Formats: sequence, structure tokens, C-alpha cells
Amino acid sequence: MRKILFEGLAHGPLTEQAPAPDEIGLAELVRSVDRAARARLGRSLSIRHVDAGSCNGCELEIHALSNAFYDLERFGLRFVASPRHADLLTVTGPVTKNMREALLRTYNAMPDPKWVIAIGACAVDGGIFAGSYAVEGGVKDLVPVDLTITGCPPNPRQLLAGLLALLQNAA
Ligand code: SF4
Repeated sequence: MRKILFEGLAHGPLTEQAPAPDEIGLAELVRSVDRAARARLGRSLSIRHVDAGSCNGCELEIHALSNAFYDLERFGLRFVASPRHADLLTVTGPVTKNMREALLRTYNAMPDPKWVIAIGACAVDGGIFAGSYAVEGGVKDLVPVDLTITGCPPNPRQLLAGLLALLQNAA
């Protein structure tokens, strides 16, 4: 135990340093998303996420939006537990037969106006899982999709850019 403590003191933390916001232009991108949400909704954006059958690779990138690097919540954008509080539904993975009902119920429980973003190649058309006996298809086969963010998986910056594009172009 003592050896581990000394090693920790000698080497310092192994985590990466967070980049300065100005250095990567990230803060401006997130602020733009928040401004667009307030212009569109009169308040910040609430997001409900459904994993319809993904490998969880896309979820790791979505979770990163809440970590110390991206810290989405400092701008008021947040993931909510109930679809009744959500403006935006994000969906990952192919829609599996087991998750079909949950996805439909979540979508139907959301108040208008509401938007849907399909995140990742699997959400577009089933991706590498297309044709599986367990898969219904892409998200658009079940609910109307307003925006698709492709990639396997898309990174957090692509997710933020997608959010911004949706808010700026939403009817
Ligand atoms: S798009 Fe890639 S990372 Fe996302 S659920 Fe499909 S296989 Fe996984």
C-alpha cells in the first residue's frame, strides 16, 4: 500500500489535462447551441436519450458531453429522466425488437414541439446489425427523424455541431 502511495506521489495524476476552452473553440460551440435553444424554445434544451440496441460505443461519446472536457450542463443543456420533460430525443443503435415499444412510448410521451436525432451508423439503417433477426431497422422506420449524425461512433464535437444544426434549422 505504501509503495502504491509513493508511486502515486512520484508520478502525479494520469488523467489528461482538460484543454483550454478558447484553445479548441468548444465553449463557443456549446454557447451557440444554448443560444439557438433559447431562441427556439425560450429556454435551454432538455434531452432524453434512448439506447434502442447499440453496442454502447455511441453512449460513451454521448456521456462524454457531460464530462469535465465538454461539461454540457454548465450551459444549461441537460439530459432528463422523463420524456415528458424533453424537447429532444436522441436515439442510438439499430432499433431492436425488444426496444421497439420503449422507443415508441418515449416518443409519444414527449410534448410538442419535439425533435429526434438518430446518432451513429446503426441508428440510420441498422448499420452492421441490419438484417439481424433481432432488429426492426433504423430509427426512421419507427419515428420521424429530424437529423442524422453519422459515424461509428460520432465524437462529442460532431454531436454538438449536430445539435446546433438542428436548432438553427428546426421549423
Ligand atoms: S454506430 Fe458504431 S458505436 Fe454506435 S452503436 Fe453502432 S456499432 Fe456501436
